[in-house]
Amino acid sequence: MSSCCCGTSPTHASQHQCPSCNTPTVSVPATAPQFLLTKEAKYRFDQSFKWFACTNPDCVTLYVDSENRQRFQVSDAKRTIWFKNGSEPKIACYCNRISFNAVHVAVQENGLTSWKEIVLKYRQQATCKCDCLNPLGVCCTEVFYGEINKALKALGKEPVSIPDSCC
Ligand SMILES: [Zn+2]
Repeated sequence: MSSCCCGTSPTHASQHQCPSCNTPTVSVPATAPQFLLTKEAKYRFDQSFKWFACTNPDCVTLYVDSENRQRFQVSDAKRTIWFKNGSEPKIACYCNRISFNAVHVAVQENGLTSWKEIVLKYRQQATCKCDCLNPLGVCCTEVFYGEINKALKALGKEPVSIPDSCC
């Protein structure tokens, strides 16, 4: 996967493990928690630390730093987190606030199969700020197209390929 519109590197697995569930975490740019945390949570957020996200759907820990000095939970985030169980609605594109359900509706009812077409069905403009707004600080594209393809599969149609570029 190539880097995103605003120059962030793709998510990669790390040696670091979640202190709550021992699942290997993924590294995230400090901008991700910085934009996503509530005002209250942000008071104790140190952006100079190296930050990781726990993607275990059943774990309440969302962000933790490399030395486990600070830990933030799903409830410390302003938005729902697509990879956590019980955090609804699931958002496919954080830049334009498009839910998984909205993607499915656009595919099933309008036959739309691209990020841009689907965003423009719901929004005046299609903006791209994945590195800031996506909870993992990566492009929404992969998850978004994953949902398009789930919807296509449910209709018995062929999947579309996931674009290499962001948004
Ligand atoms: Zn965890």
